[in-house]
Amino acid sequence: MPLSLYNTLGRKIETFTPINEGKVGFYGCGPTVYNYAHIGNLRAYVTHDILVRTLRRFGYKVTHVMNVTDVGHLSGDDDTGDDKMVKSAEERGKSVLEVAAYYTEAFFNDTGLLRIQRPDIICKATEHIADMIALIKRIEAAGYTYSAGGNLYFDIAKFPHYGELSGPKPDEQKMQSRTELDGNKRNQGDFVLWFTRSKFENQALTWDSPWGRGYPGWHIECSAMSMKYLGEQFDIHSGGIDHIQIHHTNEIAQSEAGTGKHPWVKYWVHNEFLVLDKDKMSKSAGSFITLQNLIDEGFNPLDYRYFLLGGHYRNQIKFSVDSLKGAQNARKSLLSSLRSIDEKGKGAVCGGSSRDAACAHTGASTYIEAFDAALQDDLNTPRALSALWGLVKDCGIPPKAVLEAAFEMDKVLGLDLEGNLYSTAHSGIEAAEIETLVAERAGAKAAKNFARADEIRDKLKARGVILEDGPGGTVWRYK
Ligand code: AMP
Ligand code: ZN
Repeated sequence: MPLSLYNTLGRKIETFTPINEGKVGFYGCGPTVYNYAHIGNLRAYVTHDILVRTLRRFGYKVTHVMNVTDVGHLSGDDDTGDDKMVKSAEERGKSVLEVAAYYTEAFFNDTGLLRIQRPDIICKATEHIADMIALIKRIEAAGYTYSAGGNLYFDIAKFPHYGELSGPKPDEQKMQSRTELDGNKRNQGDFVLWFTRSKFENQALTWDSPWGRGYPGWHIECSAMSMKYLGEQFDIHSGGIDHIQIHHTNEIAQSEAGTGKHPWVKYWVHNEFLVLDKDKMSKSAGSFITLQNLIDEGFNPLDYRYFLLGGHYRNQIKFSVDSLKGAQNARKSLLSSLRSIDEKGKGAVCGGSSRDAACAHTGASTYIEAFDAALQDDLNTPRALSALWGLVKDCGIPPKAVLEAAFEMDKVLGLDLEGNLYSTAHSGIEAAEIETLVAERAGAKAAKNFARADEIRDKLKARGVILEDGPGGTVWRYK
């Protein structure tokens, strides 16, 4: 069975066929580093991770690129509102680059705790301004731009494919009724490629350009950086569904206008939202739940990963502490089942009678096949988890084979089953407890409480756990 994915471009499930056989170029929109990621944002990155791990499981050589937005992102994706980075820096009394460095580290710390694999290429917007200017020049030379009020705009009326990704053209009515209209725009759907006359007197970072000193619009960064690392046409681009209407629609328009090539990206994969009751979670609104909040409530980051895998990425998930507790219990029971299977394996091979006499006696490969089929069916992680549970509950499979198959599945699920299984045996301390302490130490370091940070490191060392600090956060291992 081939891998199939729902392609927002065309709105249907399609068989995945990469542009170059055996290779996949994948760009996932990364964080804007003006604040911590909230657990909704982290859902997007867990989705990227499942996609990448699935592609690798099926033998593709994946190049995963992620941007870090540290300039140019306004609170409204349509050039309205405040500059997120500048506002955050002012509120915190720091420079924009200090804020960016702090939240970039916090972001990769969170993704590390969730066992999200690091992208192959992580690119900062501020380090790619020349690439953005070069692309804007091509878009300008192709006749898609106009200057007004000091800024350079993309003229959507000139681009015939505009809005193909989002369906009907952006709602003009809605655009016109916004309080903040941009009188320089010919059409309110037009967007800024380069700001030369900043709407913010205090714009911290500016660069020289053919259009004057200024800074790039947000959309251009993703086009310029993805093409720099993946070529002018590539396989998969993803992000949350909120990016379909404006950000990704504008990325397509400017990329295809600049290169003259269509389609720019073959498959568009969008995750649905994690919601709190009926409200969408918004980083800019200020009230949101972070991974650290969950850790403070006694959850292991992997409880949250398990919770997310229990829903299909294209379905909205409602977050509540009770449902997260359900995931926590399920993960605990999965680990204790695996532990008891492991113990049986140390004695005699399970003869198929003791664990559950009623269950079917099938080989582990049946469950692996069901697992793969679930992933091939548009990354159906709830069904993949059921295949894992089926395997664990099947008394007819020798314990060693159960464990091998479970660890094989875990290469995609990323629940660190093997590490968690053996952790207590090795050192008397569970991975959950270590992760909680590692997170507490990150908090202590951030608050400059280095005494506490060192104390945690020493305590863990005494219990056989080594911490290694790196640019992506702290990684731990057993001695
Ligand atoms: P941002 O840093 O705001 O650009 O968002 C980072 C990623 O998180 C983007 O892919 C968004 O589409 C996604 N995202 C934002 N809010 C949510 C949410 N509540 N649930 C799922 N994904 C989200
Ligand atoms: Zn983007």
